Amino acid sequence: MTALVALETCPALVLNADYRPLSYYPLSLWPWQDAVKAVFLDRVVTVSEYDRVVHSPSFEMRLPSVVCLKAYVRPPRHPAFTRFNLFLRDRFACQYCGSDSDLTFDHLIPRSLGGKTTWDNVVTACSGCNLKKGGHMPRIAKMWPGQTPYRPTMGDLHSNGRSFPPNYLHESWLDFLYWDIELEP
Ligand SMILES: [Zn+2]
Repeated sequence: MTALVALETCPALVLNADYRPLSYYPLSLWPWQDAVKAVFLDRVVTVSEYDRVVHSPSFEMRLPSVVCLKAYVRPPRHPAFTRFNLFLRDRFACQYCGSDSDLTFDHLIPRSLGGKTTWDNVVTACSGCNLKKGGHMPRIAKMWPGQTPYRPTMGDLHSNGRSFPPNYLHESWLDFLYWDIELEP
C-alpha cells in the first residue's frame, strides 16, 4: 500500500499559453485547490497529473501537476525587486568578499545619506562586510562591490538561475523548465 501524499505537497506548475512557466522567480505554482478550480472554470488545460486523487460525493479527479493557461499573459520584462531576486542577481555571494553565508543587503549609498532601496543601490553582502562598511560611502569604507548593481532583466536571472534551481521540482515539471537540460546526463 502506498502512503497517501499530503495534498499540500501537490502544487501545480502553471504554464503560460506558450507552455513556458508563467513565472520563474518565483516559480509559478498554485495550491491544488486553485488548480482544480481553474480546471472547472475552463481557464486552464491539464497537461500532467499527480497520482493523488481527490474525491467529493459527485466527482473524483487526479490532481493536476502541470496546467497551462488558455489565455496568454504577457510576461514582465523585468523581475520584481525581491530579496530572492536580488540574491539571484548577485549569485548568492557577498559582493565585497564573495562569501555565500549569512547574506544580507547593503545599501551602497547608505540610507542615512539618502541612498534608495533600489536595484542600482542595493547589493548582497555578508553580515561581516555589511557591519564593516556600516553607514559609510564606498569611498570612505574603501569597499567596492564586485559588480556595479543594476536592474536585471528576466534573461539575466534565468542565466543565473541555472546554477540555483529551486529545492523541489516534481518530475512532471522538468519538461517545462529551462534547467531541465542541466539535469540530463
Ligand atoms: Zn562579505
